[in-house]
Formats: sequence, structure tokens, C-alpha cells
Amino acid sequence: MLNIVLFGPPGAGKGTQSERLIEKFKLIHLSTGDIFRANLKNETSLGELARTYMDKGQLVPDEVTIEMLKAEVLKHSSPIGFIFDGFPRTNAQAIALDELLTSLETEISIMLALEVEEEELKKRLLARAEQSGRADDADPAIIENRIAVYNKDTAPVKTYYQGQNKFTSIQGTGSIDEITQRIFNALENIQA
Ligand code: ADP
Repeated sequence: MLNIVLFGPPGAGKGTQSERLIEKFKLIHLSTGDIFRANLKNETSLGELARTYMDKGQLVPDEVTIEMLKAEVLKHSSPIGFIFDGFPRTNAQAIALDELLTSLETEISIMLALEVEEEELKKRLLARAEQSGRADDADPAIIENRIAVYNKDTAPVKTYYQGQNKFTSIQGTGSIDEITQRIFNALENIQA
């Protein structure tokens, strides 16, 4: 299986690049943010719970997020592989993901970390708010908080994958096509 962790701060372009990867490799795309938003839309109790965190730019608690992600993975029998987009966002989530994949006799193949500097992220998120209607993109104070949470709780996950020799830094600025090409190049190296 080809199992990719697509990693990066809010606004780094994970969703956009996931679409390119799905098309090329026919992987199953699991975006925890998308799944939470779908729950919100359908007014499930999970959605109601997630909303209280998302609206403030905080992380949904690990127990909740991990259970949800596990259930999503287990819905698929014999997939080609997964793209994990927006997960893991904490070391506890990374450990839980490793345990889950080990139980399925597979593992993470590579972590692709999209690197974009903060000022550019803020610009992108405010621009996205105009189209997405996402409350967490529209408010500069919430954006600040999401970036702060990323720096404190999520960025350390890079070290976790460095320890497994799976961390790959991808420059996340330039045209969408250029970034896709960098990702495809990185994947050729691991598949060789
Ligand atoms: P972005 O990467 O643009 O911040 P996402 O759509 O990935 O947006 O996530 C939106 C929100 O959903 C996050 O701010 C957080 O509240 C929640 N969320 C998504 N993934 C996770 C996760 N793995 N752990 C905890 N909370 C999450």
C-alpha cells in the first residue's frame, strides 16, 4: 500500500494537492477537517461537539478524532492506500495511526510536509474565506490561534516522522502545478 501523510499548517494547500494525488494514485482521501465539516452539516452529535473547537481554532480532542479516523479507515477493505490530510495533528494521533496501520499489516510510506511561511498562510486563508464561507477562515484572531496551535502541538509531529526517516519537506509556494511536481518527484524516490 501507498500511505501518505500530507502535512502542513492551515492554508498550506493540503486539500488542493490531495486532489492531484487522488487522481494520479487512486488513493482514498481522508481529511479529518472535511469529515468534521460533513458532520456539522448533517447536524450529528460529533459535528456539534467538533464545532465548539473548530470555531475557536482549537483542535478537537485526540480521543474523539482518533476514534473517528479509525472508523473511517476500517470502512475500506483492501484499498490501494490512503492520503491522510490534516491527520495526525498531535504526537498522540501519530502513535495511534501507527498502531492502527500495524494492525492492518501496513505502515505510513512517507510524510510530505508542505512548508509555507506565516504571512502567506494568513493571506491565503482570508482569501479562501471569501469562497468557502468557513467561519474559521474569516476571522484573523481565529487564524492566529490556528497557526499558534499548529506551531505548538502539530509541528512536533515532524520530529516523530523524522525519527522514522519518513519526513520529506516540500516547498509549498509557487504555482499549484510546481508544487504537485515536487510531490510527485518525492514519491518517485520512495517507490524506487
Ligand atoms: P486547516 O488545515 O485549513 O486548518 P482543516 O479542514 O484540516 O483545516 O481543519 C479544520 C479544523 O478541524 C481544525 O482547526 C480543527 O479544529 C479540526 N481538526 C481537523 N483535523 C483535526 C485533527 N487531526 N485533530 C484535531 N482537530 C482537527
